[in-house]
Amino acid sequence: MKQILIIDDEASIRKMLKKLFEKNGYAVIDAQDGSQGVKLFKEHEPDLIITDLIMPEKEGLETISEIKKINPDTKIIAMSGGGVVEPEMYLDLAKNFGAQYSFNKPIDNEALLAAVKHLMSN
Ligand SMILES: [Mg+2]
Repeated sequence: MKQILIIDDEASIRKMLKKLFEKNGYAVIDAQDGSQGVKLFKEHEPDLIITDLIMPEKEGLETISEIKKINPDTKIIAMSGGGVVEPEMYLDLAKNFGAQYSFNKPIDNEALLAAVKHLMSN
């Protein structure tokens, strides 16, 4: 079974995404910030990572670049929903850091699921 690591500081988002992906046949592990996310990534080597960008402890861009340093082939999807800078700017940055897809919150579940299926099939 393919495994997804979800990193988001909002418990409700983690819960919602976990449910979505488990319903669609994926195994899901989740972390509440980038530090925990990197730790879980090293331990479990998930097939794909979905990470929020604005988080305490370790924010998303730093998390993405750290994970890419460990394994440049890691499939990453970024998501963002505001903050001091325009979310679009963060999402563009995330792509520069190596995220294959980026999504604005509130998340369009169907579009996110389609992106995951596409990345998993490669
Ligand atoms: Mg957040």
